[in-house]
Formats: sequence, structure tokens, C-alpha cells
Amino acid sequence: MLKKFFKPFRFTRKRKDSDNPTVLDAHEHRLSSADFSRNSANVAVRLQHAGFQAYLVGGCVRDSLLGVTPKDFDVATNATPEQVRHEFRNSRIIGRRFKLAHVHFGREIIEVATFRSDHSQSDDDNNDHSAHDASGRILRDNVYGNMEEDAQRRDFTMNALYYDVSNEKVYDYSTGFADIKRRLIRLIGDPEQRYLEDPVRMLRAVRFAAKLDFTIEPSTAEPIRRLAHLLRDIPAARLYEEVLKLFLSGYAERTYELLCEYDLFAQLFPGTAKALLKQPAYVDRLLRNAFKNTDKRIANDRPVTPAFLFAALLWPVLTQRSQSLQHDGMHPIPAAQEAAHQVLLEQVLRVAVPKRFSIPTREIWDLQERLPRRAGKRADTLLAHPRFRAAYDFLLLRESAGEDTEGLGQWWTEYQDASDSQRRAMIGALSSSGAKPRSKRRRKPRTSKPLHAQQDQL
Ligand code: ATP
Ligand code: MG
Repeated sequence: MLKKFFKPFRFTRKRKDSDNPTVLDAHEHRLSSADFSRNSANVAVRLQHAGFQAYLVGGCVRDSLLGVTPKDFDVATNATPEQVRHEFRNSRIIGRRFKLAHVHFGREIIEVATFRSDHSQSDDDNNDHSAHDASGRILRDNVYGNMEEDAQRRDFTMNALYYDVSNEKVYDYSTGFADIKRRLIRLIGDPEQRYLEDPVRMLRAVRFAAKLDFTIEPSTAEPIRRLAHLLRDIPAARLYEEVLKLFLSGYAERTYELLCEYDLFAQLFPGTAKALLKQPAYVDRLLRNAFKNTDKRIANDRPVTPAFLFAALLWPVLTQRSQSLQHDGMHPIPAAQEAAHQVLLEQVLRVAVPKRFSIPTREIWDLQERLPRRAGKRADTLLAHPRFRAAYDFLLLRESAGEDTEGLGQWWTEYQDASDSQRRAMIGALSSSGAKPRSKRRRKPRTSKPLHAQQDQL
């Protein structure tokens, strides 16, 4: 990290007039076109040749200045999405809140955004393109603007730097370059107003602080705790996208710490935050260990699934709920089922976990009930279960947080490595130690709708 800044470097420029960007030459910023993907540089150059302004912008300039490999490359231009579409046959116009053009090069997608302006609420009258709600939140934001306006409506100073591939200059309309050097996350404009416009910026501040190991500048940090509740107005689908970025970018543990510090965690996972109050040491350990594992896997280029993460994040809520249902007289297995159902139903109101992940989350939980029951053919059936590996990892996670499973994790570790005859011996030892397959008991007739029938509603 900070490769670019290791060499002695002097930042002498003062803050300039807002409509006059600081222009940094190659010898000052030390970037070169080679720091950007060839496709993104080509997109910018082609747009310029077609008579438009076009720059690399945002995270890719910030990360390159820090010597971090950018995740993706964004281009900002004064061409409209339609004009971009016209220039590139391999492009598509997309957009929910914002209309953008995506230029496709195999698996790489270059996002090309038209300069937009930051428009005040008073401009909203009779305007189809922009809208705010009563608290100032931006609902639609498709008003095009010039480059300076585009810079002002971006979130943080470090994200508002523009790199011109043709002349290798960086344009800075605020204090982005200096802030990167000082490792500061600073909102552009009045922080409170910028959070009111878009409360997700609070999550972004924390995410970047964790990822870049930056400090959130005090006036940018100050309103967060006060305004954290605004996240309740954000659609659960958008928060889901943000949660994935928060926890699956390789810095989940630090992100979690900061989310707690700024009272943001409880907005995303209210049930888990309550569980943390009830059993602070255990829940904190479980979450941290889950995040540590995830970060380690990402660092080693191993796959991670949101299903496992949600299983961990909600496990303490599930177990506490299941216990209270049992306390009310429900049997353990239906109580666990019902608790899983309720907990997910409540969580998706805040963070819209799609079914393709919530279903495997439930399977991981269900298997926790089944892993202790290994007698007869059960162990082999479990081993062949498509979710066995995740369930086993989850069992180890629970143990790492201090849950006593009577050595179950160790047993399964050995069983997986054992030969056929060793496996038979291990199962035999179980029955002799009393863990016999349960005899088929007569079931009481069901009185209510079976719980699995309700599962589809999740
Ligand atoms: P990374 O891709 O590494 O997560 P990034 O800065 O590129 O970081 P993106 O979400 O890809 O983040 O957004 C691209 C750019 O768009 C940002 O750098 C910022 O300038 C702008 N931006 C994104 N989200 C917002 C927002 N909520 N408010 C204002 N500007 C935003
Ligand atoms: Mg980006």
C-alpha cells in the first residue's frame, strides 16, 4: 500500500477556487496510463476522439494513487448514455437510480457515467429527472452537468479525482489529492446534508476507512451516529448490495468494528445487535471469527458465499429465538425451524437477502441439528450432502466461539480423513457409547400447518 507515496513527496498546492481544478502533472501524482486497464483507457480515448470529454474517475484513480489494484474502472464523460451507446456497439444502457452505459469487453465491464450535477431541492419543481423526499434524500438523479458539477456531487474528496489518459494529468476540484496523502475520508460539502441526501454514504465512509486504513475526518464522522437511523429509509435491496460490499471485500473484521463504533451495525442487523447485548463475548467472538475466516479466504483467492456469512450473522439470533420458543413449550426441532423462519423473515425487511442465499443459510442451520446424529448410515448421508462442507465449517466456527459441542468438530474432521474400515469403527464406537440411532417414535398428529410449508414465503 501507498507505494506511490513512499518516495519523498511534497504537496504544495493550496485549495483553489471551486470552478478551477488543481491540475496535477505526472511527476506530481506519479500515475501512468499503465495503472489503468487497457480497455478503460481505450474507452476514454475513443470518447475523446469522438469529441467528448472523458476521464477515468473515482475508485480506480484513488486506488492507483495508493498503489492498490483497482477493483474496477469507471469513466466519466460529457457524452450522454445514448451517445456512449452509439460509440460502442459492445455497450448497454443500464440504471435504476442513475442511467449509465456499460461497455463490455469479455468479462470486464467499463462503467461510463455522464457528468451529473448536484442539484438543490429548490430545483426539483416540475422536474422529472431529479427528486428528493421530505428529508432531502435523493430519489432520482439524472440531471446532467459539467465536470465540476460532477465532482461536487461525488461523495468523498478522494473519489472525485479525474485522470486524463491523453495528457496524464489529474484534475482535483476539491482536496482529494491532499486527503489521500493524509489518509483522510472527507465528504465533499456539508456532511449532514450529504448524509441526508444519501444515508448510504455513512456505510461507504466506514467501508473505505476499513479497506484503505484511512481515518474518517472529524466533521465527516461527527453526524454518523446521530443520523445512522436514516438507513431505515433505504430500500432493503440496496442495503443488501452494500452489505455484500461491506463484508465481502476482504476487510470484514475491521468493517464490523467500525460499523459497531458508529452505531451502524444495529441498523443493518437489529436482531444480531440485540444478541450482542445479551451475550457480548460469545457473539462478538463468533462474528469476528466468521469475518476473519472470510477475509483470509478472500486474501487466498478462495470462494466465499454470502449464505455462510448470513448464517453466522444471524446464528445468535436464531439460537436465542429457538430457546425462547422451547421455553414456551415447543419441541427443539420445530422450535429451531420456526426460529429460522422468523429470523430470516425479520432480517429481509432490512437487508433483502435473496432466496438463493437464504435457502442455503437455512440448510447450514438445519445441518447443525443433524451433525450430532451420526449413527447407522447417517454420517455417510450427511457427508454426501451438498451443503456438508459449509455446515462442517460452520460447526468449527461455533466451536471457535466457545460453544461446547462435545468434540463434534474433531470427530467430523477425523471421519472425513478416515478409511472405510476406520469409519465403520468410529460409527461402532458411537453406538457402544450410547449414541444409538433413534428408534422410530410415533408422532403426534400435526395440529398446525407444517413449518416447511411456510418456508416458501421467505
Ligand atoms: P470501489 O469500487 O473500490 O468500491 P468506488 O469509489 O469506485 O470504490 P463505486 O461504488 O464503484 O465506488 O462508485 C464509483 C464512484 O461513484 C465513487 O468513487 C464516487 O465518486 C461515486 N459514488 C458512488 N456512490 C456514491 C454516492 N452514494 N454518493 C455520491 N457519489 C457516489
Ligand atoms: Mg468502483
